[in-house]
Amino acid sequence: MNKKALIFGISGQDGALLALFLANRDYEVHGTSRDAQVSSFANLDRVGVRDRVSLHSAATTDFRSVLQVLSKVVPDEVYLLAGQSSVGLSFEQPAETLESIAMGTLNLLEAIRFFGFPTRLYNAGSGECFGNVSVPADDETAFRPRSPYAVAKASAHWAVANYREAYGLFACTGILFNHESPLRPSRFVTRKIVAAACRIAAGSKERLKLGNLDIERDWGWAPEYVQAMWLMLQQPTAQDLVIATGKAHSLRQFVQFTFDELGLDWQQYVDIDDSLRRPADIAHSVGSSAKAERILYWRAMHDVRAVIRFMIDAEQGRPWPMIAP
Ligand code: NDP
Repeated sequence: MNKKALIFGISGQDGALLALFLANRDYEVHGTSRDAQVSSFANLDRVGVRDRVSLHSAATTDFRSVLQVLSKVVPDEVYLLAGQSSVGLSFEQPAETLESIAMGTLNLLEAIRFFGFPTRLYNAGSGECFGNVSVPADDETAFRPRSPYAVAKASAHWAVANYREAYGLFACTGILFNHESPLRPSRFVTRKIVAAACRIAAGSKERLKLGNLDIERDWGWAPEYVQAMWLMLQQPTAQDLVIATGKAHSLRQFVQFTFDELGLDWQQYVDIDDSLRRPADIAHSVGSSAKAERILYWRAMHDVRAVIRFMIDAEQGRPWPMIAP
């Protein structure tokens, strides 16, 4: 019998890449969207997996709909990727962010506990929970969230840990640092930069407006990160792990690398717009996957320059690697 996976948030970047990864491993893949009737599922089309998955409507904030989809699918593995995922937007919509992430996670934990299925749960945590770090953060590093998004992710993280300890659920959180792909919406700064630079290289006269170029982030390649999610659920015991490249680069470097790839001098095309700064931001964010390397034998294979090259390839209509090597 093939294993059954249920992906909450299958329409997003990670949902689509994970659906492809699991379908290629002969999983029966199910996925949810808040409204599967109207969602375009463009990312599933883009990676060519749409006709290999079953789609359901479910809102994680609605306990009844979570119960309904769990009882219908009876999954071996659940991947909780749904929720408001933008740090920037979380300052505009703090309540929606908290509810979709913290309440959504609690509903799923309760539903799995209620049914008593031996379902394994992966929860999408975030390196944003650590806030500013001076050395690469690992699973021993304290959380110091600096956005409503990170506050919500920290809450969900502890709920998962609590249900694991209190009720013996096989539930774990992957504390993932930023991971990018051409499926990122253009609201996210990496895709915004790559898309604008490609248009400029093609002759557009536009200017690229950015906020704080000094922030440093740990950027990896999303197809590798969904592989880590799956690996976490194949272990004999559930544990939380940091998934990251271990290397930080500034946003300025990201911009420079992108324009360099296109043979352009970034300084001629970029304007600083202070209105794009966040009320509070993380200056330096980087993670250590040393433990994941020991336990999962997982290591990031692509650095930020490779990520940029793949995103440019996609933007210019060339193929890009959708599956981890
Ligand atoms: P996306 O935003 O691409 O996908 C998340 C999905 O969640 C959406 O497709 C949407 O599905 C659903 N969603 C969006 N807003 C809400 C909301 N307000 N309430 C309920 N559901 C919502 O995210 P990614 O695929 O990039 O990330 C997957 C998960 O991993 C997210 O939880 C994200 O926070 C987390 N994460 C991502 C990182 C990254 O770098 N990509 C880093 C660390 C963590 P629909 O509209 O179909 O319902």
